[in-house]
Amino acid sequence: MSDALQRAGAVLTIDLDAIADNWRRLRDRAAPAACAAVLKADAYGLGAARVAPALRAAGCTTFFVAHLDEALALRPLIPDAEILSLGGLPAGAEGVFVEARIIPVLNHLGEITAWGAFARGLEVALPAAVHVDTGMNRLGLGPDELAVLAATPDRLAGIKVRLWLSHLACADTATPMNTAQRNHFRAAVASLPAAPASLANSSGIFLGPDFHFDLVRPGCALYGVNPTPDSINPMNGVMRLDARVLQVRSVDSPMTVGYGATHRVAGSGRIATIAVGYADGYLRALSGRGSVYVGGVPAPVVGRVSMDLVTVDVSALPEEAVAPGTLVEVIGPHRPVDTVADEAGTIGYEILTSLGPRYHRVYTGGAPGGSAWGS
Ligand SMILES: *Cc1c(COP(=O)(O)O)cnc(C)c1O
Repeated sequence: MSDALQRAGAVLTIDLDAIADNWRRLRDRAAPAACAAVLKADAYGLGAARVAPALRAAGCTTFFVAHLDEALALRPLIPDAEILSLGGLPAGAEGVFVEARIIPVLNHLGEITAWGAFARGLEVALPAAVHVDTGMNRLGLGPDELAVLAATPDRLAGIKVRLWLSHLACADTATPMNTAQRNHFRAAVASLPAAPASLANSSGIFLGPDFHFDLVRPGCALYGVNPTPDSINPMNGVMRLDARVLQVRSVDSPMTVGYGATHRVAGSGRIATIAVGYADGYLRALSGRGSVYVGGVPAPVVGRVSMDLVTVDVSALPEEAVAPGTLVEVIGPHRPVDTVADEAGTIGYEILTSLGPRYHRVYTGGAPGGSAWGS
């Protein structure tokens, strides 16, 4: 055990093999469609630098990020993979995309014009994906722009369309909007020059083969968030967060615990203070909500979450079970990411992408050559 691990206030353990296994499950479910991986926001907070090589080793060849700079950071780690940047083509960045072989996802006609002009200037065909909006009203060609492109496909001169792409608004819910978006997307693709098509995110994969088209784009499911919130999670959990007990104290009625004195102690008991707080992404909305686990036994969170600390009631545990230095499970098999999210009134995506920089990170498994004990 490294010194850094031994003194760490909280330890975030990320299982790269479990992430790779999740990718293989999604690949098998989506086949014969191809399966990409979405690594935006540092692989949903879990560390794109470690996740990308692990997924490449598992066989993934297509990666999506949100920003050009995220794509540039990935390029040397997965030199032979295709990397697409969802956030479009920032003005003047064309040369950077070409140099690093990053494929832009073009979101409006202006970007199509700029990319085509740049390609014709170089006298080469340049690859791009084109995003067609089918109901999000967020990114992509709206109905007017789609009609213009379908009527004047020569606007794509110089562009090798790698993918027509659209995004589902309600993929994790049974709603007619999914079918409507799929039908809209089918019609859009049929009106455009032939190229592969991609509609499904993680939850979209579980809507069935009609939603798979040629390529699926899972993100959250790779990282253990349940893509089918109304049934049992079909994915592996991939991470756990353990926080260290800093102090244990005896309390008795009518003492209170923490800022705002929101928790009044009802009888005699013990409170343990653990080294995780809202500065680490343990959201303040979790004040007084849910439990951490000590050897599988729940210890309810009491009082407010503060910047660096959380207080938990360990009265139900034997005294010797909790002492300064004990690691308690904050997120893990007893309290999965989706449970924490429910308790905080948010979604697993936000819990993951909020994971803070102060955690000592340990990576297990992963690509051959990767170290079991990460940074
Ligand atoms: C984030 C994102 C995805 C992945 O979504 P998940 O719900 O995490 O699987 C796919 N496509 C686009 C366009 C996205 O922005």
